[in-house]
Amino acid sequence: MSKLLPTLFLMTVFLIAWLVLYAHQRNERKKRELPLREDFLASQGKSVPACHACGKDELKDDGLASGNDEQRIVSCVSCNTLLYRYERAPEPEPAS
Ligand SMILES: [Zn+2]
Repeated sequence: MSKLLPTLFLMTVFLIAWLVLYAHQRNERKKRELPLREDFLASQGKSVPACHACGKDELKDDGLASGNDEQRIVSCVSCNTLLYRYERAPEPEPAS
């Protein structure tokens, strides 16, 4: 019994770590599979993007890998539904 408890604890820790990693990777894959902006607008039949889950047009965009990534992922501010992605033109080099 005295050795079973630490083993169980370690297995639980590994299981939780695996679940967190799995959820993260699934989310990343979903982001990469999002439609491009043009395809999203065409599929919604609208000229201005809006959330297809709640209808709000307040959207936010985040970088795919990091905050400054040129691949932008757009999601809804109020319900967090992932909507579409687009590629931002790279920012010009700061003049030195
Ligand atoms: Zn929404």
